Amino acid sequence: MKPPRFDYVNPRSIDEALGVLAQHGDEAKVLAGGQSLVPLLSFRLVRPAYLVDLNDVGGLAGMRLHDGHLAIGAMTRQRAVETSSLVRERCPLLAEAMPQIGHVQIRNRGTIGGSLAHADPASELPAVVAALDGELVLRSARGQRVLKPEQFFVSYLTTAAAPDELLVEVRVPVAPPRTGSAFLEVSRRHGDFALVGVAATVTLDGAGVCTAAAIALTGVGPTPLLARDAARALVGHRPAPAAFEEAGRRVAERLQPDSDLHASSDYRRQLAHVLTRRALARAAERAATDARR
Ligand SMILES: Cc1cc2nc3c(=O)[nH]c(=O)nc-3n(C[C@H](O)[C@H](O)[C@H](O)COP(=O)(O)OP(=O)(O)OC[C@H]3O[C@@H](n4cnc5c(N)ncnc54)[C@H](O)[C@@H]3O)c2cc1C
Repeated sequence: MKPPRFDYVNPRSIDEALGVLAQHGDEAKVLAGGQSLVPLLSFRLVRPAYLVDLNDVGGLAGMRLHDGHLAIGAMTRQRAVETSSLVRERCPLLAEAMPQIGHVQIRNRGTIGGSLAHADPASELPAVVAALDGELVLRSARGQRVLKPEQFFVSYLTTAAAPDELLVEVRVPVAPPRTGSAFLEVSRRHGDFALVGVAATVTLDGAGVCTAAAIALTGVGPTPLLARDAARALVGHRPAPAAFEEAGRRVAERLQPDSDLHASSDYRRQLAHVLTRRALARAAERAATDARR
């Protein structure tokens, strides 16, 4: 099908884009890489009166280190994040998750901000940003606010961003020394959305004792799920297979994922258990051999 009629707006600066959203936010959609929005338009599942193209807006793309964080502009293409040596060295969890998003053609156009703003419950990036305890920077003509993932992701395809707000940047902390991470997922075919995905990080002290851990899952509910209790149970102990198994069990027992055409609820729960155990084991192994000791 063809999209319904809309007015195309092509701002050149962030302020210009925010001005349009301040005036027409309720009736507007912003266009980033178009990999999710264009199909929605074509199926007439969204019918904006204004399409605000972000592709010529200056200052929304790029990656930089700032104050212990890696700051990534919302319009940075997923493929640019995937191939960045800065991301690989400073935030390897993000680098490992990127190739699991669709196919390379999709990542060439798709943006990091578009993926986070779209908030698909089976997307990789929301879980990664949750595991890393990142921040999402929103801007509007009214000002700027910075949200944690638990504040930003509200439900299926729904975020806390107001109609006049743009996601302008995502910030993730640089991995501390002796930190390992892993992202694992199962999907039906390469390039499909995850049935279940797990992002895990483990940080060790000089004696090999766990000082911090994080586990976040995708595909098991309306928003990324941060398994705080299961991760906290690892802290203060030397990483061991029994502890990873126990964390997997704890994660699975509190989940009630939906059944759908692709997988039953029980199957998703079992995947969450096994992938959590494996992701933690891999993260701990990488932490123990982290070259930045
Ligand atoms: C075949 C196929 C397979 C895919 N597989 C996966 C997969 O496995 N995993 C995965 O995570 N994704 C997958 N995707 C989706 C892909 O990652 C998209 O790139 C992403 O969901 C949207 O990013 P985009 O830049 O294309 O945004 P767009 O499609 O342009 O926009 C998506 C939504 O976000 C809003 N938006 C975009 N940018 C901003 C912003 N800066 N501020 C506020 N709102 C904004 C738009 O208004 C729109 O509502 C797949 C897509 C396709 C077509």
